Amino acid sequence: MEALHKKIRDEGIVLSDQVLKVDAFLNHQIDPVLMQQIGDEFARLFADSGVTKIVTIEASGIAPAVMTGLKLGVPVIFARKHQSLTLTENLLSATVYSFTKQTESTVAISPRHLNSSDRVLVIDDFLANGKASQALISIIKQAGASVAGLGIVIEKSFQGGRAELDAQGYHVESLARVKSLKDGVVTFIE
Ligand code: 5GP
Repeated sequence: MEALHKKIRDEGIVLSDQVLKVDAFLNHQIDPVLMQQIGDEFARLFADSGVTKIVTIEASGIAPAVMTGLKLGVPVIFARKHQSLTLTENLLSATVYSFTKQTESTVAISPRHLNSSDRVLVIDDFLANGKASQALISIIKQAGASVAGLGIVIEKSFQGGRAELDAQGYHVESLARVKSLKDGVVTFIE
């Protein structure tokens, strides 16, 4: 997706060979026009996948997920990272090791929002080692629902997450595929 590539080139900051900072348009400040384009593109790519719900993780997945849900006309659920007094029922949950924070946390979704007839599109901001995606897949399966596919805004293809999802047979669409962050330069798989 050329508009996203340009945004990453112009405003992304390479923090290391492994980490790209995009807090100017995705992870802190949000560019709504770009998010709408991203939502439109995911909706186009998964138009024939029978999607009934979208699942993401708070907080950075919410903006692209909501724009995709708006275009596809389906609800968006974000897995919560923090226990809330209002989440009183037995939750569907999975542990996820955070690549950027290097800590393990539990993410949870209420079973009231997912059921076995749902076909779920997973949306996330980044795909690195795939821990976040695998946690969401686990929650979707606990609900007896099926995975329609995964839509990733920025995939770091040099890490293992994409290969594992491909090997598991999932339909993965990444709007920017980063081949390398070496020497402070972002290069894409075109
Ligand atoms: P994974 O679970 O695939 O290893 O990592 C994906 C999660 O870690 C994403 O939800 C994202 O929040 C975070 N993440 C992974 N790599 C990066 C990165 O290079 N930059 C930023 N900003 N977040 C990342």
